[in-house]
Amino acid sequence: MDLTQRAYCDRILRVDLTSGQITTTPLPAEMMPLLLGGKGLGAWLLYTEQAPGTDPLSPANRLIFHNGPLTGTTAPTAGRFGVTTRSPATGTYFDAYCGGYWGQMLKYAGYDALVITGAADSPLMLVIDNDEVALRPADHLWGTTITEASERLRADFGHDWQSLVIGPPGEQLRNVAGIFNESRALARGGVGAVMGSKRLKAIVARGNRPVHVHDKEKYERALQLAYRAVRMSSKTTLMTREGTANILEIVDVMGALPTRNFQEGQFDEADEVSGAAFRAHNWKKDYACFGCPIGCGKWTIPLDDGKVIEGPEYETIFALGPNCAIGSRETIIRLNWWCDEYGMDTISVGGVIGFVMELYQRGQITAAELDGIAPVWGDGVAAEALVEKMARGEGCGVWLAQGVAAIAERYPQGKPFAMHAKKLEMPAYHPSAAKGTALAYAISERGACHLRGAPLGELFGGAADPLIIEGKPQLFRDTQADTAAWDSACLCLFPGYGMTLKELWQLVAAATGFDYPTAADLQLLGERVSTLARLFNAREGFARAHDTLPARNLSQPMASGPAAGHVVELEPMLDEYYRIMGWDSDGVPTPERLRRLGLAALLETA
Ligand code: SF4
Repeated sequence: MDLTQRAYCDRILRVDLTSGQITTTPLPAEMMPLLLGGKGLGAWLLYTEQAPGTDPLSPANRLIFHNGPLTGTTAPTAGRFGVTTRSPATGTYFDAYCGGYWGQMLKYAGYDALVITGAADSPLMLVIDNDEVALRPADHLWGTTITEASERLRADFGHDWQSLVIGPPGEQLRNVAGIFNESRALARGGVGAVMGSKRLKAIVARGNRPVHVHDKEKYERALQLAYRAVRMSSKTTLMTREGTANILEIVDVMGALPTRNFQEGQFDEADEVSGAAFRAHNWKKDYACFGCPIGCGKWTIPLDDGKVIEGPEYETIFALGPNCAIGSRETIIRLNWWCDEYGMDTISVGGVIGFVMELYQRGQITAAELDGIAPVWGDGVAAEALVEKMARGEGCGVWLAQGVAAIAERYPQGKPFAMHAKKLEMPAYHPSAAKGTALAYAISERGACHLRGAPLGELFGGAADPLIIEGKPQLFRDTQADTAAWDSACLCLFPGYGMTLKELWQLVAAATGFDYPTAADLQLLGERVSTLARLFNAREGFARAHDTLPARNLSQPMASGPAAGHVVELEPMLDEYYRIMGWDSDGVPTPERLRRLGLAALLETA
């Protein structure tokens, strides 16, 4: 099978930073129809190549960048790529995805994946110029921010290159650190710290190889249907106008907008930080990733002190706004700037600030322990001082930047309201007000996550009553499998507001020529890939006890709003979900299920 005529490059680039060795290997051809690429390929490589028990910050941990068969094609949002590794924050399998302009460049340079192992003695950058790949010193970049590093690389290499960089928190191995392609991030779980542990400051790439789809006519027909679905969707139109922030007011009305560290589900200043308010007062122009017809990104008007960002997105607004009781758009922009400029994940940083504010509210932490900063709810100056310390790695910022779960170990009386699952800070939907989403937070292989199949339609799609648990395990199973298929093909999830799995399947089948008779084959592929991630976690000791939520969600009823009186009835949902998935009562996939997914045979050959 010639994969180069099926939208692949058929090459994995491998770089060992300890020895400096650079090699390439072909894709596992016979497995590609079962894995597709992206998440499937990353999960496969991590599971089969990495020894169990590998320390996430050790040279042996793999940092695997991957694109998918649709990356770099003409499909909508085809700039998507991802990274897979073992997370230093959660200890789990971890993948993160990103738009921007780097992913298709790796593909045009001729690689489906880049596997980085080892660790250098001094700062390096990896330079990928089609077949020419080299490691170069990066001492002059060490310590620079995202903007500084990106601009120096652009000046040195030129505008036809794309860069991935980490900021100082990544160099200092902080759990909040991400990896940035200009304003777009592979974030959460400390993926930037893994890159920092290898002393790899940057990866620059350029390439000019074409991508060949398998059946051009079929692909063009599928392409037309996909674009039509995206363009006809009123939801994608809203995304173009107000970005992801368009949903903030809806989530608030549903009582699911986490406020004051999830103490409440509604924010009395929601209209001040809505997408409409940002559109009217702060945004000056739209931004789109490579090949994107939606353009959900927004550039802000510079603040008085010159700070300007791309965003903020809904998740960032929630985390740095309502979650900290901050209703000032300018303050949210300023906090967002610190995160983007230094390379930190906004959800995790906002989770930390909200948690510390509640510790302070309850008298469980003092200003003296926070270098004299008194973090009162809504105090933007205090929040900015704490975020700056995290960014610069100063004083209390050193331990704050390790995330909510680590802070809760230091202040154990705060554990009942330390809002994380599997040590990953919670995203922007209150689990007690959205039961299917709660199940997704508890189950997700990378910890509390809204992007691994959380059925958010229960909140703003009218798919189901968000406050009931009936039917949610099946709903989550289906959206989880669909999302994993989407992440394996490597398209942004947002075209999914218009496109269905059917349009994705038509594109994938035409581009790869793989034998997928129906869209259900792609959903099965998604379940297979998610199960592979689950197997990685099981091998590392994760089981049912880890599929849980904070006491705030399980035993403390919501005090007000549409979800007043509600907690998450997690155990019955877990039982039902495990049954549907064919896992045993401890959450481990059974041999029978692995056979049905085609994984048993696959793993025997590994
Ligand atoms: S919808 Fe937004 S995040 Fe997705 S590719 Fe387009 S601009 Fe990027």
